[in-house]
Amino acid sequence: MLGLMMHRPLLVSSLIEHADRHHGHTPIVSRNADGTVYRGSWRSTHNRCRKLANVLQALGVATGDRVGTLGWNHHRHLEAYYAISGMGAICHTINPRLFPEQIAGIILHAEDKILLVDPMFLPLLESLASQLTCVAQVIVMDEPGAHLPPSVLPLLGYEALLQEASSDYEWPEMDERTAAALCYTSGTTGKPKGVLYSHRSTLLHAWAVSLPDSLSFSACDSVLPVVPLFHANAWGFPYAAALVGAKMVLPGPLLDGPNLYQLLESEKVTLTAGVPTVWNNLMQYLQAEGCQLHYLKRLGVGGAACPRTIVSYFEDVQKVSVLPGWGMTETSPVAALTLPKANQVGLVGQARRDWLARSGRPLFGVDMEVVDDEGWPLPHDGHTFGHLMVQGHWVCNGYYKDPSEPLQQGWFPTGDVAVIDEEGFMQITDRAKDMIKSGGEWISSIELEQVAVGHPAIQEAAVIGIHHPHWGERPLLLAVKKPGQVLTAEDLRGYLEQRIAKWWIPEQIEFVDGLPHTATGKLNKAALRAQRGL
Ligand code: ADP
Repeated sequence: MLGLMMHRPLLVSSLIEHADRHHGHTPIVSRNADGTVYRGSWRSTHNRCRKLANVLQALGVATGDRVGTLGWNHHRHLEAYYAISGMGAICHTINPRLFPEQIAGIILHAEDKILLVDPMFLPLLESLASQLTCVAQVIVMDEPGAHLPPSVLPLLGYEALLQEASSDYEWPEMDERTAAALCYTSGTTGKPKGVLYSHRSTLLHAWAVSLPDSLSFSACDSVLPVVPLFHANAWGFPYAAALVGAKMVLPGPLLDGPNLYQLLESEKVTLTAGVPTVWNNLMQYLQAEGCQLHYLKRLGVGGAACPRTIVSYFEDVQKVSVLPGWGMTETSPVAALTLPKANQVGLVGQARRDWLARSGRPLFGVDMEVVDDEGWPLPHDGHTFGHLMVQGHWVCNGYYKDPSEPLQQGWFPTGDVAVIDEEGFMQITDRAKDMIKSGGEWISSIELEQVAVGHPAIQEAAVIGIHHPHWGERPLLLAVKKPGQVLTAEDLRGYLEQRIAKWWIPEQIEFVDGLPHTATGKLNKAALRAQRGL
């Protein structure tokens, strides 16, 4: 017998409708590339989304068509999110930091019919113009009154199109399993693969990240996603903010310490999130200038392990709660967050920092397991590590236009190696490809990097495995010193010897001027290995 309750499909359009109806005056603030600030609201955003849907329809966009975006975090990109998915098309967010050839490759693979791009990405797109055979029109997300530059691309101006368009538009009803958005993995460990989110998965993920035992979004928050809209749905921020009617602050391309600090303060931001590199830059700036954050309450950190230095600085000095989390493009992305259960509420000082080194416990809707090489579950004892497997409502079960079958007995293999403790907290030990296999034992490159950046003179560190005739592989530590610091490899070795097992001590320590990063701001170990012919 079926229940007698209304069945309403979980659609992305329902989020923006809700935000307009019940939080219409709540501000949407967006900082442009030139530093000027746009001020709208959920109501004006919804209005502009309906206009954009009419524009796209008039340009021939139909249900299931892919519309690509190449843009920073700004209000037009937010409008594109809602207009494209809301009308039944698929919002394909493209990472502009990928190599140009990868960008052309994924546009062709996705068969984007229309592209919405920031003016600053036009030269990049022009250089690829002859390859982009599927693209019928390029809409430049420009300022009102801006002139379109001469171009080999078929350009149209966003604001001019919106000015002429009607805001009379009814979002269509459709099956909640309809595809809403497409995001390619950033290719850190291989060719980019397309992850195709549905309306249902997007809504359930937005609900899950909003919960108090999650990122805890509220109508009283001012939220600023530093994580880009082109990186795994900006971790659900655009959707969760509408779901609760939070004020949204979009920072544009200016993400350096001074600019970020200025915006966090002027817009009274209470919740933000991004990768550790961004928080490291902000921390350096705040430390150097002796600045205090007055409004920020919660700082989400994900995409890579959160260095302890960041945790202690923001928690102890800035009095901001740090929320480490784990996820991947394939998991929408938020799957686990390090949030206390009753047992952890009282933890303070070093005990709290050690606990915050965990990657997280699963949100309802996601399950996790660690398994051995044969796929057998391993104990949740906090030290037995294995392959991390996930399943859930917002975990992918296949890649877009890719015949490979990623699932193993219904579980998605993440490619990460992790431990799970008795309380269900998971901690990433490494990516399977980055673990160092020394004489049959495994060394975690992440853990070694964490200890190395704990040295006050070290800014960043990367550990990779190098060939060793006896042990098979041994760790090589590459470290970047903070400006003006004097430190020898022997000093650093001495520091490490007091903190880690003897057989983990790196075989070689080298100081370098900088380390390569991926398109999502993480250490690029594949590039480091390639540089050294490994
Ligand atoms: P890419 O795979 O191209 O880096 P993703 O954003 O999908 O792009 O990255 C997901 C990966 O990032 C995870 O599989 C994991 O290796 C790493 N990662 C994410 N969060 C954490 C974390 N808290 N600790 C360690 N690694 C993390």
